[in-house]
Amino acid sequence: MSYVELTVAAPVAAEETVTAALAACETLGGWVEKPGLFRGYFSPPAANLTDRFRAAWCDLAGEPCPHPIVVRNRLAQDWLMASRAAAKPIPITRRLWVAPPGVVPDAAYSKVVWIQPGLGFGTGSHATTQALLRWLDHGSPFRSVLDVGTGSGVLALAAVALGAGRVVGLDIDPDAIVGAIDNRARNAQASELMLVRGSTASLRPGYRFECVLANLDGPTLAKELPHIVGLCSARGRVGVAGLMLSERERLIDAARQLGLALLDQREDPDPTFKDVWWSGWFAAPENPV
Ligand code: SAM
Repeated sequence: MSYVELTVAAPVAAEETVTAALAACETLGGWVEKPGLFRGYFSPPAANLTDRFRAAWCDLAGEPCPHPIVVRNRLAQDWLMASRAAAKPIPITRRLWVAPPGVVPDAAYSKVVWIQPGLGFGTGSHATTQALLRWLDHGSPFRSVLDVGTGSGVLALAAVALGAGRVVGLDIDPDAIVGAIDNRARNAQASELMLVRGSTASLRPGYRFECVLANLDGPTLAKELPHIVGLCSARGRVGVAGLMLSERERLIDAARQLGLALLDQREDPDPTFKDVWWSGWFAAPENPV
């Protein structure tokens, strides 16, 4: 499979406009290769991509794009290899670090999760992933953790690193499960992590977890929330992320009706979407509804 790559050489300060213009052209993903060099990837044929990018830039910045743009076809492997080479470790908390394989461990962090970029969503760089990782670390050790929508496996692997004995990661995407299995093999003590293709309905009734994490989109969370609460132990913790701020009230209402009590919440602006991510951390009821 091949991709269309757009490269723009623009000053570091233009990052927000570049990412928003790439998003307006429906990029599949992109990254900053080095300060001042941005790359975005598109499904072929990506017709008139340079013109569309220039038009989006003009809409956003109110003036023509003055920076050089290069568009060319790339093999998927090129993209993956280059994005892996550009990946950097991400400090999450004082002790938790998410890092790509091959970097030298930093002794300042006692809990390390190794994640190969490109194997499912969740390298640790996204605000929604980080919100859940921070709460997970803050509330740990949990004896058991369920990660609904595990992607790369990053949350589930962090739960193992933080001392959880029983951890299950679920994902409806078979490619995500394959990627998570690959990442599991990179992390010591993670062999006990159970990865299941499917969603909450795939688990045997009666299973309970001290902590349930779900980084999904708003509509999926609305549908899954009753099942998530049903899988959480009495007085356990539920962490949700992946919602936009406008979806907050509806989610909090639904959570309240299920007996969840809001303990903490975060708002993380996303310049690409010109919107704000909302994440919530809840306590499950003593007697689940
Ligand atoms: N947990 C990772 C993180 O926090 O970075 C990845 C989160 S990613 C935003 C969402 C993942 O949820 C995707 O891998 C997607 O395939 C999966 N997903 C979407 N709907 C789902 C559902 N109903 N049940 C289980 N997984 C689902």
